[in-house]
Amino acid sequence: MFENTERTNISEMGEFGLIDHLTKNFPIKNSKTQKGIGDDAAVLDPKEKKVLISTDMLLEGIHFDLAYTPLRHLGYKSVQVNLSDIYAMNGIPEQITVSIGLSSKYTLEAVEEIYEGIYLACEKYGIDLIGGDTTSSKQGLVISVTVLGYADEKDITYRNGAEEGDLICVSGDLGGAYTGLQLLEREKIVYLENPNIQPDLEGKDYIIERQLKPEARRDVIDLLKSREIKPTAMIDVSDGLASEILHICKQSDKGCNLYEEKIPIDPMTFDTAREFNLDPTVCALSGGEDYELLFTIKQADYDKIKHDVDVSIIGYITEASAGYNLISKSGQVHNITAQGWNAFKKQ
Ligand code: ADP
Ligand code: MG
Repeated sequence: MFENTERTNISEMGEFGLIDHLTKNFPIKNSKTQKGIGDDAAVLDPKEKKVLISTDMLLEGIHFDLAYTPLRHLGYKSVQVNLSDIYAMNGIPEQITVSIGLSSKYTLEAVEEIYEGIYLACEKYGIDLIGGDTTSSKQGLVISVTVLGYADEKDITYRNGAEEGDLICVSGDLGGAYTGLQLLEREKIVYLENPNIQPDLEGKDYIIERQLKPEARRDVIDLLKSREIKPTAMIDVSDGLASEILHICKQSDKGCNLYEEKIPIDPMTFDTAREFNLDPTVCALSGGEDYELLFTIKQADYDKIKHDVDVSIIGYITEASAGYNLISKSGQVHNITAQGWNAFKKQ
């Protein structure tokens, strides 16, 4: 849990003082950024590229719980979830704006922690912080990040380009962020019942990190480029595999066959799901926040990617009339329905 040793009241600083203090150490790295923070608007030069824009807003109590989310991780994650959307278009993100709403319980030190996380993400992924807005909120913390990315028109990958016979691929592994969340929720309840009991998260680092500190898959975009593969369709896995494959199929007017045995699940995710009496496959299908990339490729590209252990081929695209099928390990065919995690369910 976040505990301040120092407590500086934000109202003492004034809005300009606060913004300046938080943002002065952020360097500009990209030549497309002509003017960043400090004027009425930032100025960008997209050069020959198409511009991609996406926004994600995170609300305290809906998208994160500060009982177990360090503010630094929250800042980092709020950037990652946005970068992931640009990679899912096969583009490269270069700038973000960050807007925050703060209630009076937040001190300067707390906001500094958030910006440390934002800074780390910007450093690691080559992103410029070019602006934002700062307001007070009546209750709770709000962070809204907008990301700008770039791509050549011919490289942009939409959700609607999948063709019959294309292979369905996913990076990394799935279900980890969701099982990590189950663990954190459980320990929170234990802690609230008896604050003297220390959280038992031993040996669970991987899935805790999957929940608290996701990494957008720039490396997958680089890999595809280096192999000269342009996916026919792509989406990032924020709401669970089931919901995302349905987006691709519906927008492409196609069906799919997915194979349960091919869905990549880390052993720690598997074991933890079982501890909670959850089906690991359901965690992969309906959990969320893994921020992996789900994409389809032409069969002709299979040889270029078949040895990459970090990309799993989990099925193929069919004609629409064949429906959305999951073939279980025992060979049974199930209809895939979207039960993706969504913020409205939690309320
Ligand atoms: P205005 O009143 O014109 O909206 P602001 O005082 O809100 O200007 O912002 C001044 C500058 O600081 C602008 O460049 C704005 O984009 C930037 N900025 C404001 N809030 C944030 C923030 N939370 N993070 C990063 N930049 C910010
Ligand atoms: Mg403003």
